[in-house]
This record gives sequence, structure tokens and C-alpha cells, in this order.
Amino acid sequence: MSERPHTLLVAPRPIYDESPASWIQRVCQMHSNSYARLLGHLGIPAVSDPDIHLPVDHLCHIGRGTYVPEEPLRSMGSIFHAVRTLPRLSRLLNYDRRGSPAYRVCVHCLATDAVPYLRIAWRFKDWRHCPIHFTQLIEDCSRCHASIVSTRPSLGQTPSGRRFNVSDCAGCHASLLEGGPGKADPSIDGRTLVAQTSVVSAVLHGFFCIEGFRGRLGLDFFLWLRDNYSWHGVRVVPGGLCSPEEGLAVSTIVRRLLKIYKDGSAATPPSLA
Ligand SMILES: [Zn+2]
Ligand SMILES: [Zn+2]
Repeated sequence: MSERPHTLLVAPRPIYDESPASWIQRVCQMHSNSYARLLGHLGIPAVSDPDIHLPVDHLCHIGRGTYVPEEPLRSMGSIFHAVRTLPRLSRLLNYDRRGSPAYRVCVHCLATDAVPYLRIAWRFKDWRHCPIHFTQLIEDCSRCHASIVSTRPSLGQTPSGRRFNVSDCAGCHASLLEGGPGKADPSIDGRTLVAQTSVVSAVLHGFFCIEGFRGRLGLDFFLWLRDNYSWHGVRVVPGGLCSPEEGLAVSTIVRRLLKIYKDGSAATPPSLA
């Protein structure tokens, strides 16, 4: 009886802004193994959302015995640390109708990738527009409408002999690029892009800042603000813009918001004036 391999010997190198689930998907495709089977071979329990719930040591274990250094894997495995610490932040992430971890993708980006991969930012609900190509991201396959779920890699090869990659639909194996790029959106402006960048940045850093207010603010407060105040009404955007209501200094607004937050969430957000 042959022993199960404990290392994979080869694995792809993680890419700079790649999500953990994307890298695992590429490992699965390199070894023509499903997500659950690949981890099973390594003695690692598969979790439903590897971006959030796969322990860093388990992610490093996947790369053990390969030429992939441990350090980038360790960094990648910590990317969603804030969501592990404050699970309510998962509200900011994409899931499909069945609750599986899902992504939106920019077709232009995938089409020009030397190696197609899923970006960390594509996991976020607020990240709806590609800041490079100024188009909307797509959230499903144009042919079969399957969601883009990171734990369901397309395995095998195309009829032309190309190995499937993350730009191929796991449902019907068609290329996600087939449907063409997402719609060009004339409403995309600098503020929209700053706002989506700020949400991602806040979660990845584990805190956020508001220009004009000294000090770091916690992500629980961030969620509360998001739930209770319109971003465009109060114009409190983490790490970026802040257009206070007339006559009120930014620091005054933030101090009032913090007081309201600490006094307990009100059903109807009180006026700041
Ligand atoms: Zn793009
Ligand atoms: Zn499809």
C-alpha cells in the first residue's frame, strides 16, 4: 500500500495581491485535484472559506517541501486576520446564494494576466469597479451563470490542451472572458474608487483613519458607521475624503459620532448638528 504524500513537491509562487483561496485554487489546478482532496492528501481539514478560516500554519503546510518560501505564504494567510478577529466583518465579503465564498472579477485584468489569479480586493462587496480599466466587475459566468467560487477549481484541460486556470468557469468550463468585459460605467468617479479602496484598506489594516481626526478608529465603529450613516451624506470615508457638514469641523463630527456609538446604537441615527 502506497503512503499518502505529505508534500506536493511543486506549487506556484503566490502573486503580490493574490488571495489565499486563489493560490490554493492554482495549486489544485496544477495537481488536478479538488480542493477537499488536495487538502485531504496533506492531512489538512478543508474549511468552507479558506480566505478566512484556513489557519496560517495549514496554508504554509501546503507549500512545505516545495520551492515556495514560507514567508509570503505566512503573510498571505494573515491577510484576512481582521475578519477572523471580528467575524461580523464578513458582511463586507462576497458569498454566493449558497453561502460559498465568491469573487467578482475584472475580465480585462484576467485577460492580461500572465498567470490569471484572483485579487484580494475582488473578495469585497464594495469593490465593484476596476480602477485600472474603469469597468464593472462581473460576478458570474456569462454562459451558465455559475458564481465564481474560489473553492471549486476547474480541473483538467481545454480541448486545445491548455490547462484550466482561475479564468475558466468551474460550472461549464467556458472561459469567463467569453462574455466580454463588464459594462463601462460612466458614473465611476474618483470618489467611488477612493471609497471602495478605503473599505478594503480598512479591513486589511484592521483600523481606519479619517482625515482631520487624529487617531486610529476601530472596525466595529466602522461597521456601525456604515450601517447608520450614508457614506455620501456624512462623507466619512476611511483613510480618505471627509466633507463635513457646513460649519462643523471634522474632529467635532467624529467625536459626536463616537459618543453616539458608545452610548448605544440608536434605531434612527441622530442628527450630528
Ligand atoms: Zn481590470
Ligand atoms: Zn459557466
